[in-house]
Amino acid sequence: MILITGAAGYIGSHTALKFLEEGREVVVFDNLETGHAETIETLKKEGSLTFIKGDLKNREDINAVFENYNISSVLHFAAYAIVEESVKNPLKYYNNNVIGTLNLVNAMIEHNVKKIVFSSTCATYGEPQYLPIDENHPQFPVNPYGQTKLTVEKILKDYDKAYNLKSVILRYFNVAGCDNKIRIGEWHNPETHLVPNILKSALNTDYEFNIYGNDYDTPDGTCIRDYVNVNDLAKAHLLAYKYLEQKNSSEIFNLGTEHGSSVKEIFDICQKVLNKEIPVKFRERRTGDPAKLFANSAKAKRILGWETEHSVEDSVKTAYEWEKRLK
Ligand code: UDP
Repeated sequence: MILITGAAGYIGSHTALKFLEEGREVVVFDNLETGHAETIETLKKEGSLTFIKGDLKNREDINAVFENYNISSVLHFAAYAIVEESVKNPLKYYNNNVIGTLNLVNAMIEHNVKKIVFSSTCATYGEPQYLPIDENHPQFPVNPYGQTKLTVEKILKDYDKAYNLKSVILRYFNVAGCDNKIRIGEWHNPETHLVPNILKSALNTDYEFNIYGNDYDTPDGTCIRDYVNVNDLAKAHLLAYKYLEQKNSSEIFNLGTEHGSSVKEIFDICQKVLNKEIPVKFRERRTGDPAKLFANSAKAKRILGWETEHSVEDSVKTAYEWEKRLK
């Protein structure tokens, strides 16, 4: 069985769905703090899923999973992931993202489970020194969220050497869209991400969408990011899992489309897809936002055979259908 932590959340749930559709048996471990019980109920209809409500911060909770189920490998999504919050409350982030993960990997070692796919982030790179960013780019995170993820990357490296724990580290860039059948979707509270915030503003007259900064050193003054469709990202996890199964060797991959889009461009795509004018206000820059981030994902293509299939328009279309349901 495959253990998936954080599968009640956005990327975890889409990946769990992918594994269920492949006929894999999964055990989901989630504390439902930011994820949703409704998402788990939906996933249960799609295949063989056992849900365990537990918190990685409690060693007994996670140890019990390995005691009670025959786990062969782990996909680890459970984490806090809001940059601004991590600056204000680093303790919360280190406790959960680092100590929680330590509890997980220690339980794995104790129970002789030696394969993990880990959700990391382009936030581990910090301010880019060159673009596109490849896996060898220096890592100097500029916020505690990025630091927690980098710390885990280092732990995984050391545990590989000492205990033979094999990991595939996936460094995500930006993620958008939802399941093409709209069974599950992006559901954060509060929502901080670009695409759902634009769509909420389009659907709710009292929801204000802000563009944070239009004075960046970019062609239209707004930040440039690399938006991967969540289904493409889920597929990368399946490929990473298969890679670990077959090669039993540790690797690191960037996951992005290798194409940068500005905030303004994403906003224009949303207006085009919805065929309506969406209200927007320009605000001050958000702290810790680099001007440009986009990936070199050649390694994931070459080694995993990963290809993205969905455009940003596809992501906006499905995200819009999902937002209408959330409303
Ligand atoms: N952004 C924005 N308004 C919003 C949310 C995001 O202008 O309501 C901008 C943000 O400043 C960044 C980009 O959109 O330049 C992507 O932000 P998001 O929070 O979606 O992802 P991040 O890049 O922080 O992981």
